[in-house]
Amino acid sequence: MRLLIVEDEDAIAIPLVEGLRREGFEVTRVATGAEALAAPETDLVLLDLRLPDMDGFEVCRRIRVNSDVPIIMVTARGEEVDRVVGLELGADDYLVKPFGFRELLARIRAVSRRTSTREAGRDPETLVAGALEIDLRSRRALLDGNELSLTPKEFELLALLARDPGTVVDRQRILREVWNTTWYGGAKTIDVHVGALRRKLGDPAWIETVRGVGLRLEPPA
Ligand code: CA
Repeated sequence: MRLLIVEDEDAIAIPLVEGLRREGFEVTRVATGAEALAAPETDLVLLDLRLPDMDGFEVCRRIRVNSDVPIIMVTARGEEVDRVVGLELGADDYLVKPFGFRELLARIRAVSRRTSTREAGRDPETLVAGALEIDLRSRRALLDGNELSLTPKEFELLALLARDPGTVVDRQRILREVWNTTWYGGAKTIDVHVGALRRKLGDPAWIETVRGVGLRLEPPA
């Protein structure tokens, strides 16, 4: 697995690069946003927020223009607002400095597991779960070959759940990825959309509510 580390501080970057190489990663390290944007494609980007030439948000936004590469943002302690902005700009996760090496490894593995399910299918633009087929490019959802009439948020919610059928997606992540918020009151909004999706799918068993955790998509038996 190839990693790009964007970090201007040698004191942080050097031990990180050494540790990750020991773990078997192929690591490229750059120290500026411009270098990050010019770097060859990798499988994951670890992106520091404070860079000498531009901030990490800008780098993240520009990477997202033409790449889905998983991005983990690295922020300093207490930058709560920054974290939300980073996720809205398309970062997949964040880490707060100072972080432990084990924690970093766990995050890298979690993010790449999540994103590789997207690419594991025969066509990364299509998600399949039982009789349900979702075409991400044309934003169409088909059930037994018949197109479902979904609102944009219903489509995004269904697509998020269908990326990894059988796995519980927590509510925080749903709010973040579908509604771009982590606002607690958003839970009710999720329930309304789930109700509509269950009706349109014709069987409430498609979407299971896991109390206190989140939602799971599972083709009914
Ligand atoms: Ca920095």
